Amino acid sequence: MRVLCTCGKKAIIGKTDRLSLAHANLYCSCSDPECGHTFVANVSFSHTLSPSAKTSSQLVKQLVNAMSPENRKQLQQELRLF
Ligand SMILES: [Zn+2]
Repeated sequence: MRVLCTCGKKAIIGKTDRLSLAHANLYCSCSDPECGHTFVANVSFSHTLSPSAKTSSQLVKQLVNAMSPENRKQLQQELRLF
C-alpha cells in the first residue's frame, strides 16, 4: 500500500496502530527531507465485494481473539445469560 504526503511525495509508514479488525491508524513521514511532514492516515474496511469463504464460527473465533482480555471476559459473562 502506498501513502502519499500532502506534498505529493511518497510517505513512509513507520507504525501501524490497529484499532480493530476494520480500522487502523498509519503513522507516516514524508520521504522528502525538504518536506519533513509527519502525519496519521486512517485505513478502514469499506464494503464487501465477495463474501468470506470462512464459516461464521471461524469469523467469531477470530473476532474473540482480537478482543482485549477485559472485553472477552465481559462477553463470556453476557453469554452465560443465554
Ligand atoms: Zn511531503
